[in-house]
Amino acid sequence: MTAPDKNNTSQRWYAEGLRFECRRCGDCCRGEPGYVWVTRDEIRRMASHLGLSPEEFAEMYVRRVGFRRSLTERPNGDCVLWAGQDRGCLVYPVRPIQCRTFPFWRQILRSQRTWARTSRRCPGMDRGRHYSREEIDERRGKKF
Ligand code: SF4
Repeated sequence: MTAPDKNNTSQRWYAEGLRFECRRCGDCCRGEPGYVWVTRDEIRRMASHLGLSPEEFAEMYVRRVGFRRSLTERPNGDCVLWAGQDRGCLVYPVRPIQCRTFPFWRQILRSQRTWARTSRRCPGMDRGRHYSREEIDERRGKKF
């Protein structure tokens, strides 16, 4: 006998899983203004990846928003760590959890409709690697 599914996750619309494979086009790193929330640990990891001290990294790439911290944007809305199509994201192997869990965010997974709406702007969604419901929920539960 299996344990009861307390959160009724088997009833989620994506119970059969979803496909996603990032194509590194950078569309989600560019354009629209927004926030990429970062923690102290993430700042430490990104700084180390770039050979900087956390203080140097924060000075160059991080802004304060209330009590939180976000990566800086360029005036055109691009993420400050997006280095163009050839070089891509400068911190990709140690990117923040917000970037790492996209597109399995709570607000995107709210319904098939919200998923489909986002997929119009992300060519990696609905193709490539299959993620099980459990894998999706594990990512969906991450806080950022
Ligand atoms: S828009 Fe989608 S495919 Fe393009 S970089 Fe972002 S996650 Fe990857």
